[in-house]
Amino acid sequence: MVKIYYDKDADSKILKKKTIAVIGYGSQGAGQAQNLKDSGLNVIVGVRQDGESWAQAKADGLTVMTMSEAAKKADVIQMLVPDEIQGAIYASEIAPNMKKGKALCFSHGFNIHYNQIVPPKDVDVIMVAPKGPGFLVRRTYTEGNGVPALIAIYQDATGKARDIGMAYAKGIGATRAGVLETTFKEETETDLFGEQVDLCGGVTCLMKAAFETLVAAGYQPEIAYFETFHEMKLIVDLIHEGGLSKMWYYVSNTAEYGGLTVGPKIINELSKQAMKEALRRIQSGEFAKEFVLESRANRPVLNALERQENEHQVEKVGKELRSMMKWLNPE
Ligand code: NDP
Ligand code: MG
Repeated sequence: MVKIYYDKDADSKILKKKTIAVIGYGSQGAGQAQNLKDSGLNVIVGVRQDGESWAQAKADGLTVMTMSEAAKKADVIQMLVPDEIQGAIYASEIAPNMKKGKALCFSHGFNIHYNQIVPPKDVDVIMVAPKGPGFLVRRTYTEGNGVPALIAIYQDATGKARDIGMAYAKGIGATRAGVLETTFKEETETDLFGEQVDLCGGVTCLMKAAFETLVAAGYQPEIAYFETFHEMKLIVDLIHEGGLSKMWYYVSNTAEYGGLTVGPKIINELSKQAMKEALRRIQSGEFAKEFVLESRANRPVLNALERQENEHQVEKVGKELRSMMKWLNPE
């Protein structure tokens, strides 16, 4: 059984005399830094001087400095710049300031698990990974709640790594919801798997394939859009709120029978084999290598795929239809 921790399992005291540097002020950086500050902790933000984040963090009332200054001043350093540039930023700005007894923190295990960052042995290496986007980390905190998070300890040089991680999780509000114990390996591999196979990759390809099938068979794209794209949220919301059983209960008997009998023919053994292959490439480091090299080459494949995705017929059709539904708050 997975271990879950709550407020009572965390003691903020260990962070009271420490300085926390949040490196990066984007989605997670802004959410976590503001929550830590409102929790009464001593937080500074490290960002590049000419960037948008500098002004934003200042405007939000935070103490802002360069990344290397922040890393130098801090005892706990949380890396919240995009994963693909963390290695370079760590090497130039953080590593020279990574003195014995400090703690290096992450919200995703990628760089540690795939050795893009190799911290010295005499520092703590901790992960506190909120299971939600930064704006939700912030919003739920201000409402008195929190987003659940994962905690993992990769290196415990001081003997206090877990206490620091738990205090940090409390500072961002995560212990109000629950903090689940994991490892850098498990978090990294399952996170990549989820986003590739199921969430970002799987669901978009399922929707596009269904849309394309209907349009190729001569049905109107607008009608196809409603069926294959628009209604997805209604179904997923039901599952999100009450599991599969709530969804099957609310749809018609026709939908329930058709869904349960035909679904497994669509996502079938072949799809499962493809999932296993995706998992194998994550476990072997092949995906990580591909992504790191892609980023270093200035993302030629990603740019081309983004362009193709934007030019897909469903994007034009969907944009028009969404403008009919003002309540969706379209672009
Ligand atoms: P963002 O893309 O939002 O990070 C943006 C920040 O990085 C800004 O402060 C930006 O500064 C800075 N930055 C970007 N490029 C550079 C650069 N070349 N040099 C210096 N600074 C740069 O990151 P996320 O918050 O999405 O992700 C941070 C970490 O959190 C990752 O490890 C991610 O996996 C993890 N995570 C993210 C989640 C999410 O929902 N986004 C959920 C859970 C974990 P500037 O304004 O100057 O450009
Ligand atoms: Mg993810």
